[in-house]
Amino acid sequence: MKILKGDNVKVLIGKDKGREGLVVKSMPKVGKIVIKGLNLFKKHIKPSQGRPGSIIEKERSLTVSKVALICPSCKKTVRVAYQIDKSGEKSRICRKCKSVLDTPVVKK
Ligand SMILES: [Zn+2]
Repeated sequence: MKILKGDNVKVLIGKDKGREGLVVKSMPKVGKIVIKGLNLFKKHIKPSQGRPGSIIEKERSLTVSKVALICPSCKKTVRVAYQIDKSGEKSRICRKCKSVLDTPVVKK
């Protein structure tokens, strides 16, 4: 997956379109991410054991194809490319400014 935890992304589709946020969770197996403070939904907590019920807002996961990565160097929404260095480590690079987006991607 090209978008990982710790990335800044911009939402392209949906009610939060155009908003930006930090990825706090990535779920490569299902192709989804959670962005801090975005795509919120209200969750009703039932009263239990003397506690009153309440409503909290939680982030709902978003399909990764609905967001674009914001490059930390050129500050634009960019497409990600991969490069593999001499030691075989895979890194993500920005297709626009060619800067490395992170330390090598963790292998499975
Ligand atoms: Zn860039």
